[in-house]
Amino acid sequence: MSDTATVTSPPDTGTDAAPARRRPALSPSRASDFKQCPLLYRFRAVDRLPEVPTRAQVRGTLVHAVLERLFALPAAERLAPRAKELLEPTWAELSEASPEWTELFAEEGQGTAKEPDVAGWLTSAEKLLDAYFDLEDPRRLEPEACELHVEIELGSGVRLRGYIDRVDVAPTGEIRVVDYKTGAAPREIGEAKALFQMKFYAVVLWRLRGVVPRQLKLMYLTDGQSLAYTPEEAELVRFERTLEAIWQAILRAGRSGDFRPSKSKLCAWCDHQAHCPEFGGTPPDYPGWPEPDPGEETALDRAD
Ligand code: SF4
Repeated sequence: MSDTATVTSPPDTGTDAAPARRRPALSPSRASDFKQCPLLYRFRAVDRLPEVPTRAQVRGTLVHAVLERLFALPAAERLAPRAKELLEPTWAELSEASPEWTELFAEEGQGTAKEPDVAGWLTSAEKLLDAYFDLEDPRRLEPEACELHVEIELGSGVRLRGYIDRVDVAPTGEIRVVDYKTGAAPREIGEAKALFQMKFYAVVLWRLRGVVPRQLKLMYLTDGQSLAYTPEEAELVRFERTLEAIWQAILRAGRSGDFRPSKSKLCAWCDHQAHCPEFGGTPPDYPGWPEPDPGEETALDRAD
């Protein structure tokens, strides 16, 4: 079976010498941002204000990467001790690619890694892996793909893009979409957002493959619980309209620059209170709608 469900964009018109530019698209993270607070969307997708990740976010990225590597091993080797062995080399790779993440462990005034902290943090990642192995036995699974990049343009012209943690396909053709949740936020706060994300992927896979996924499975590795959901086609039709409406609202706000703040308890997780009028701040001057790609997700988004 194919290891990718990506539908690539047709090349933008322009000269042959011009580099290909990816068209604006909606990702589940950015769509959730806009739904939660249009100003948060602006700060992330338009202004692209820097955000300092937490150790919990980077740990999530690490655990996702380890699980991806685990499924690349022969089935018989997919055991908890082997997964834990993958933590250190995977962290070495990730921190080489994103050296700024190592600063999360720097001792004040020294700028060098503080080993006991890193060791304790890696131990906390082992606990997430233990929770994963309590939920399923990866030796019994042969996923079709891990960290699958998916992209499609709906009939309305809205382009959807994202990464799916894992896609399992049964011999009978039934599709299961799996997402690992590793975040530190309380589950009840993240659950609506997680289901939104899963329905987003269900729409993309349905439109790419013509089959409604049989199951959307969320695996909460912080509390060792999982949640399975069976989408109906009629529901995905409605959800598709919701995504189109969100994208149209984003485009309207993008043209006018009118991205309003929407205060909620989720503001506690927002990095941008200093720029937010709800907290006495002032947003930077509106830089205009970005090209080419306000829908991009970061590695940290993919592991929330
Ligand atoms: S602090 Fe709250 S209202 Fe302000 S931008 Fe962030 S999420 Fe929106």
